[in-house]
Amino acid sequence: MATDTYISEVRILDAADRNDGSGFCRACFADARGIEPDARNLKCKLCGEQEVFGTDEMLQFTRREHGVDLLVGIRIALKEIQSQVSSINDYSDEAHPLMQSEALKNIYHLIKRIDHDLKR
Ligand SMILES: [Zn+2]
Repeated sequence: MATDTYISEVRILDAADRNDGSGFCRACFADARGIEPDARNLKCKLCGEQEVFGTDEMLQFTRREHGVDLLVGIRIALKEIQSQVSSINDYSDEAHPLMQSEALKNIYHLIKRIDHDLKR
C-alpha cells in the first residue's frame, strides 16, 4: 500500500489515465481501490475516515488548493481534448451533429487555454 505525505497531481493524473478505479484518502494519503472517478467522502479502509475521493474529485481539490503547474495544466487539457475527441467518435455512429459541434467547441476552448497558459 503506497502512502505519501501528500498526494501529488501527477500521481492523481496517472491514476486517472489508468482508469482502474483508483481513489485516494485525503486523511492518510493511502490509495484506494474500486472507486468511481466522481466518488466523494467514502470510508477509508486504512484509517476509517470518510475522506476517500475518486480521481476527478481529487483533481479539483488539488487545483483549488495548489493551483496548477504549467505542465500539469497542459496535461489535464490534453486529456480533456482526448476525451472530447473520443466522444466525437462515439457520436459518429448516429447523427448527433449538435453533440459533435459541442465537442468541437470544447476542444477549441481547451486549445485556447493551453495557448493562454503558455503565454503567461
Ligand atoms: Zn485513510
